[in-house]
Amino acid sequence: MESYNSFTTAKRQISEAAKILNLDEATLQLLSEPQREFTFSLHVKMDNGKTKIFRGYRIQYNFARGPAKGGIRFHPDETIDTIRALACWMTWKTAVVDLPLGGGKGGIRCDPKTLSQRELENLSREYIRAAAPFIGVDKDIPAPDVYTNPQTMAWMMDEYETIVNNHQPGVLTDKPTQVGGTLGRRDATARGGVITVREACKNLGVDPLSKFAVQGFGNAGQRAALLHHEILGGGKLIAVSDSRGAIYNPEGFDSNELVTHKLKTGTVLGFPKSKQIAHEDLLELDVDILYPAALENAISKDNASRIKAKIICELANGPTTPEADIILNQKGIYVIPDILASAGGVTVSYFEMVQDKYSFFWDESTVNQRLDQKLTTAYSRVHEAIKEKKIHPRLAAMVVGVARVAEACKLRGWV
Ligand code: GLU
Repeated sequence: MESYNSFTTAKRQISEAAKILNLDEATLQLLSEPQREFTFSLHVKMDNGKTKIFRGYRIQYNFARGPAKGGIRFHPDETIDTIRALACWMTWKTAVVDLPLGGGKGGIRCDPKTLSQRELENLSREYIRAAAPFIGVDKDIPAPDVYTNPQTMAWMMDEYETIVNNHQPGVLTDKPTQVGGTLGRRDATARGGVITVREACKNLGVDPLSKFAVQGFGNAGQRAALLHHEILGGGKLIAVSDSRGAIYNPEGFDSNELVTHKLKTGTVLGFPKSKQIAHEDLLELDVDILYPAALENAISKDNASRIKAKIICELANGPTTPEADIILNQKGIYVIPDILASAGGVTVSYFEMVQDKYSFFWDESTVNQRLDQKLTTAYSRVHEAIKEKKIHPRLAAMVVGVARVAEACKLRGWV
């Protein structure tokens, strides 16, 4: 397996986009560095009565188009560079869907699987005590990401409100609906991804009712499996995987039953009428549409040449390595890049911020309809750039996002 510094990859992508846009040196430099970085030492009382020290990060990559926005991850391999890359990608993601937001990301280096609920709550609250001076409804608005969820957001919001002594639900998004969350947020990332697949099928003449596979069966993967049938009107889910393994059935799975099984047992393994296959084999199956919905760098030069899908919809952040990207392009596989395919989550986060500001909440169909509109528009803008500049979809999405941020920097007189 190749080992990657994701931020090096992210910077290379900016340079490529900058070349196409003829950006000057100062703009390129400005866009290749985070505007602000914070690192925190977090001391947490553990269940055994001892104190443990954790490292936390928050990076506000760019503010030109609005306050920083992006999730907080709890992960044992977290480093300042993983957060830099993810904060950087958030900047282009919010710009591609044309939200009035910048990009940011946070994280804590920890293994959440070894922490109790009480320890997770202590850690979440301690993170906010450290970050409170630097975040805010018009400054930087975190959300969940890998191994964080609406409950984490509820604790964090509560801690923040206690510190500022004010009702401020919009300081974080993807909260439970009972405390200022929006309807439709749980499905948002997957819904956005499936909408881009619907548009790509139309453009490429791919039959949306054909076979598909989902790599990574967490929230986004599960919802994508369900929504694929709903939005595209059919389709056959023939393989899924999670961290424990992969399963296959050429006749297709019932997505609803599979989600129930996963929620009950914690894994997709052992699902009736399924054959267990190796992780790697899932990516190489004969499907038309593939959804990578796990972590970074799943599609690498080791497996890219054997991928048969016509469309890859990147629901995860950074699932394809740069070498793999080149191979997929050569094979003519249409990759809907993460900054577009996974932008549904942050789009509905933005809707949540708006609703919190007005303290007036929309029904779910309004949320879904506005999300569809945003993603369809973003998809066609990227598709135009592909045709106009004769470039592959990832570069086209970067060009659209980077151009918008560069323009805002210029208008502000930063460069
Ligand atoms: N963590 C999600 C992402 O990577 C959502 C971020 C947000 O809603 O701010 O897009």
